[in-house]
Amino acid sequence: MFEPFHEVVNNISRTIGKYESELSRPVIGVMPAYFPLELIWAAGAYPVQLWGNNLPLENSDAYLQSYCCSVARSVLELELIGGAKMVTGYAFTSLCDTLINLREIYRRLFDKPTLELSIPITQTVQARKAYLSSVVETVLEGLEKITGTAVSPQSLTEAARLYGRTRALQRQLYQIRREKTGLVKNYDFYTAIKAGFFLPAGVYQQMLETLVADLEKMPAPGGKRVKLFVSGMIFDPLEVYRIFDELAVDIVDDDFANGWRTVSKADLKVDNLVDGIADYLFNPAPCCCLYNPDNDRHTYLLKQVKDCGADGVLFWYVKFCEPDAFDRPQLSNHLKQQGFPVSTVDVELSMSNFEALKTRISAFCEILEGHG
Ligand code: SF4
Repeated sequence: MFEPFHEVVNNISRTIGKYESELSRPVIGVMPAYFPLELIWAAGAYPVQLWGNNLPLENSDAYLQSYCCSVARSVLELELIGGAKMVTGYAFTSLCDTLINLREIYRRLFDKPTLELSIPITQTVQARKAYLSSVVETVLEGLEKITGTAVSPQSLTEAARLYGRTRALQRQLYQIRREKTGLVKNYDFYTAIKAGFFLPAGVYQQMLETLVADLEKMPAPGGKRVKLFVSGMIFDPLEVYRIFDELAVDIVDDDFANGWRTVSKADLKVDNLVDGIADYLFNPAPCCCLYNPDNDRHTYLLKQVKDCGADGVLFWYVKFCEPDAFDRPQLSNHLKQQGFPVSTVDVELSMSNFEALKTRISAFCEILEGHG
């Protein structure tokens, strides 16, 4: 059932190359996080999401300090070693200082065009929208320059429908995982989500339709196993999910920026694009990188953890991610006060030895077994 998704994730360059020539659309590399892919598709390009990779980091050290996150370092490494030849241009958001600086590095080092959707930091929704109006206009102009195709109301509506349906199917997959605990292996689940980073939305959608229909027919497995909630920015390295599978632990929900925080987004409203993008960026899930006084992360996360019936919460810390690190102590304390056991693991995308991680995860899950 999950084989087609594994096939994509194990052959990323081949997948992108195949669809680039089939679609005859320029490939736009989308950096973390929340750039609405709808805009890129509507402008006639093929968006692929770059949430980092597991390349050994050798060349990027010349431009980024070793205490930058492995997400930024590894995407830069990919371009530096010529591994992103099919990417015509890059779409950034101003998610964090690292990414803002990374775009400047790209502008100096490479001659590929870069766009930035600058995310406002404002006190009110009105101010947010006022700021975004000029930003959105600049982004659309930039996209048109790359593709030679102007975004039209019709192409936007079609793109919004396409990506809206894709995320709705991903949400169904999340729902199945919550309701039929243990039916989907952790490694398979995240592979299915990750495949969507590289496939054209229409192709991915068909694969998800089949998968969801098949899973819905299957019964939930019986038996009691540890249920875990995981929170962090990026769910990689994928290999770690084999550890959870070996330990017979079920991740029942998550709060990853490239997981639920993105999957939960409703259809992009395109009638008033600025309002639509403001909603899209800030709702429904809060994020450590977004300033939104109206959407408290403590409350949101606690509700998520309670709703999925998790026995405990694991913070998945991609090393040196400042926004994530700054939020974690308060979130962790709040969850502990509510009676949830909490632990943290540090990961790097390029890591290849998982023994220490296995010991730590295993120790935490033993505590959860005793706790339940
Ligand atoms: S992992 Fe953190 S520091 Fe790195 S790019 Fe993402 S938000 Fe920025």
